[in-house]
Amino acid sequence: MPSITLKKSRDKILERKHPWIFSGALEKVDGNPSNGETVQIFTSEKKLVGFGSFSPSSQIRVRVWSFNLEEKIDSDFFKKKISMAASLREKLVDTSKTNAYRIINAESDGLPGLIVDRYSNFLVCQLLSAGAEFNKETTIEILNDIFKPIGIFERSDVEVRIKEGLQPTQGLIKGNIADELIEVRENGFKFLVDIKNGHKTGFYLDQRDNRKMLSEFSKGKSVLNCFSYTGGFSVYALAYGAEKVTQVESSTTAMDLSAKNFKLNNLNLSLVENINGDVFELLRKFRDERKTFDLIILDPPKFAESASQIQKASRGYKDINLLALKLLNPGGTLFTFSCSGHISPELFQKIVADAALDSGREVRIIKQLTQSSDHPVSTNFPEGLYLKGIICSVQ
Ligand code: SAH
Repeated sequence: MPSITLKKSRDKILERKHPWIFSGALEKVDGNPSNGETVQIFTSEKKLVGFGSFSPSSQIRVRVWSFNLEEKIDSDFFKKKISMAASLREKLVDTSKTNAYRIINAESDGLPGLIVDRYSNFLVCQLLSAGAEFNKETTIEILNDIFKPIGIFERSDVEVRIKEGLQPTQGLIKGNIADELIEVRENGFKFLVDIKNGHKTGFYLDQRDNRKMLSEFSKGKSVLNCFSYTGGFSVYALAYGAEKVTQVESSTTAMDLSAKNFKLNNLNLSLVENINGDVFELLRKFRDERKTFDLIILDPPKFAESASQIQKASRGYKDINLLALKLLNPGGTLFTFSCSGHISPELFQKIVADAALDSGREVRIIKQLTQSSDHPVSTNFPEGLYLKGIICSVQ
């Protein structure tokens, strides 16, 4: 088997069992491994410490599959990891109410680069690392055997693949896929999902628990759902008695789909106002018009794609949070989120605090939120925590 050897100064980097080895930590590579091939990992003292996948074009040169020296990275290994991930979801997800959830959350489920989401009888996967791609056939066979889906669709149409020496790609890889939208259930609500063209693998599954949380705050309220996508938060708000929901979303396709989702759940469309536009502009317009709301949701896309964008992203988050706080009626509630992994929970809280100060409002954090439990975070991989949310009560 090909191998890599760590630099003497880096021998200890794997002590905390973090699954990433950066290029600068490598002393040498032996055996000419191909892109994604499994390599043995040796310390400078020739001690075997684990097995990982080699990714020659990536800064993350090796992603560790296993620190167990007895283990072979073969079909049985992937079967074991996938089964473990699946049985955790059985505990976490009430499948009588929810049939759209994440089955495999990459590094955090011990399978670096592999994301698998279930949408009813279909699976959607993303292969984000050279190692995940190298073992594609094996993993797809195992997923097919375990879950027996009607079809498995690949949504690896993401730029990060290029860093791994792979082309972005998408398409059917097993079975069949419906031409139409797929209907799924989430906490008993119905949603149509476009797994071929929707964002991520089709739906923001990571917000499921937070959407449920919103329902407690919705009764009789005027709600502003910013970055509303296909109406996830809006469905919950309406179903739990919101008086009115205003949605702001830049994608017309997503907005059109939200109307279908309201109908599907027998919700009253006349309570919804759809504004197809830019949240940054609309919040200013509402401010100038002195519009107010009881409950505002801010769930923007990732503002910081890399560490170099943290400052600019922080300004963006502060801007929308400040505007939103000013639009809230006394006693109102803000659900504010950041899905940028590069923005830490502490920094996000500081941004919201800065916005609160500038708004002149009295703001209390009443709950901290994170990604749904089917998107677990391995304790060895803190980077796995990316979604942060804060519920604020505003006077
Ligand atoms: N809350 C949603 C997910 C939001 S994802 C849910 O629960 O499903 C972020 C959304 O913001 C995407 O739908 C994207 O199209 C939209 N978007 C991105 N930039 C925007 C902008 N400047 N103004 C309005 N919408 C925007």
